[in-house]
Amino acid sequence: MNWRKLLLQKKIKPYFEKVLDNGKLHHAYLFSGPGGVGKRTFAKLLARKLNCLAPETDDEQTCRQCLKILHNNHPDVQVLAPDGAFIKINQIRKVISDANLKPLEGRKKVYIITRADQLKTEAANALLKVLEEPNPNVLFILTSDKPFSLLPTIISRCLMINFTRLSNQEIEEHLINHYHLPASEAAQAALLADGRIGRAVGLLDSDKKNERSDFLNLFLGLLTADSFLNYYKLIGELLAGTKEETGERMRFFTGWLRDLILLQMGVDGLLLNSDQVASLQKIKYRFPREALENLIYRINGFCQLQTVNLNQTLYLENTFRALFLDTRRAI
Ligand SMILES: [Zn+2]
Repeated sequence: MNWRKLLLQKKIKPYFEKVLDNGKLHHAYLFSGPGGVGKRTFAKLLARKLNCLAPETDDEQTCRQCLKILHNNHPDVQVLAPDGAFIKINQIRKVISDANLKPLEGRKKVYIITRADQLKTEAANALLKVLEEPNPNVLFILTSDKPFSLLPTIISRCLMINFTRLSNQEIEEHLINHYHLPASEAAQAALLADGRIGRAVGLLDSDKKNERSDFLNLFLGLLTADSFLNYYKLIGELLAGTKEETGERMRFFTGWLRDLILLQMGVDGLLLNSDQVASLQKIKYRFPREALENLIYRINGFCQLQTVNLNQTLYLENTFRALFLDTRRAI
């Protein structure tokens, strides 16, 4: 993937081309938008464009600058992410002292600070100082899916660029062109991706595919569970790992539940999980429609409350207890 081949975010690329043609690049940008829509990828492509030695081919095979940026080992282009839960002051101090140096190999130093809403207050205040004294050799790009959690003083120093969810068609084209996926698989990944290319690409990973079918099997096993104790295994597995991983697994569930409702209605052309249709067909009448809708409602509530101080285990126990009782009634 390079700048020339980039077809996503159709308004943002021409915007930056115009800015660069006019020599009007700002010193700091805040890329906002949901996770997985390409903010970080775009930031790295912009860093490449600013430092590329072979713009006519624009290809990491022929250009050492691009190759190094792609592999995160260019001395002038750094990508920062939270160290643990936060971006700490020591990380920002290193950036500040480095930003005072001239570019070592490239033309422009670029600091990409991802999940910038996780800046600790003292780190944000330190960053503010460099944002207030722009250096023509340096570009800062902050990315965030919660831009308004940043200090207003930081926001006011940056130009905000909004990245939006992508259309299914954009995602399909991208998967076909860059990942050489057959059209039917690309269409399915696009349906599951919820407008986020990062998610679509993540789903191609065979571990993720296995995880999705493992959870489906676990879920199907619950239909015949004669005791609620069986549900504890599911709850434990759902909650293993980070909140983001849990959220993703919950979206597997809402996807199946939606598919089950569609199958009950006799619609089978719009399924999110068309690769699992045989398993879903077998059980479509085991859950009353109302139970499926309640469950979707509860799971969406879970995903919204996840960011606040929710007792996740208790919430899921209550959610699945209702499902357990509903399925007993149905048999
Ligand atoms: Zn290059």
